[in-house]
Amino acid sequence: MRRFVIAGNWKMHKGVAETSTFIEGLIAAHPSTAVDIVIGPPFTSLPAAAMLLAGSQIGLAAQNIHWEESGAFTGEISGAMLTELGVGWVIVGHSERRTLFGETDRTARDRARAAQQAGLKVIYCIGETLEAREDDRTFQILESQTDGLGGLDTSRLVVAYEPVWAIGTGRTASPEQAQEAHAFVRGCLARAFSSDHAARIPILYGGSLKPSNAHELLSKPDVDGGLIGGASLDVDSFSAIIRAAAECAAGE
Ligand code: PEP
Repeated sequence: MRRFVIAGNWKMHKGVAETSTFIEGLIAAHPSTAVDIVIGPPFTSLPAAAMLLAGSQIGLAAQNIHWEESGAFTGEISGAMLTELGVGWVIVGHSERRTLFGETDRTARDRARAAQQAGLKVIYCIGETLEAREDDRTFQILESQTDGLGGLDTSRLVVAYEPVWAIGTGRTASPEQAQEAHAFVRGCLARAFSSDHAARIPILYGGSLKPSNAHELLSKPDVDGGLIGGASLDVDSFSAIIRAAAECAAGE
């Protein structure tokens, strides 16, 4: 019922030349069509990426979007500017945006809404800090982060559960921790939409996902793919994760 999504968040890595080399390698490796593959280069690499990906089944994501269509918003990019380039996805509410750049649940929701209005698919990031997990507030945080998503179009919504303590740290949630959080998030989505809709929304795991742990995480029933930072920067490791997802999709 849900297709696996493997998405790479490149953060502030790879200019045009490196992006082009990566995409040529990824298309050549073309590890699977059973899985939706998305890459998220920095803004300046998007035009080259869009040209190289044209005609392929690999999706292209921006890493941020502004909620207004145009105006005096120095440094921001609108949905129409992204779709004009051929971008089809956007990552919203990443924990680095939240902790380093003042993103809140409210602004993340506004960005998600604007993205969908512009025709983009949204990867909406949520996840608790280490402090919140240790204080037993994980579910409370996940509930408040998913609260208010109700107006979104579920056919263009992917949620990424990314425990902040696992992002870029080498620490990974255990498959059991991931499954517990994903099942809880699906329950929140069922309240925001309906059980049927929630059952169709892919929930990705993010946080030091790599080839060596991909299969055990992705084989959990509510883990429908991954949002990958570090390991998405190398064609071989990204492809290995895509292959692991394809195996899990095939029930292997
Ligand atoms: C991320 O930035 O979304 C992420 C999950 O990073 P990493 O895979 O490097 O932990």
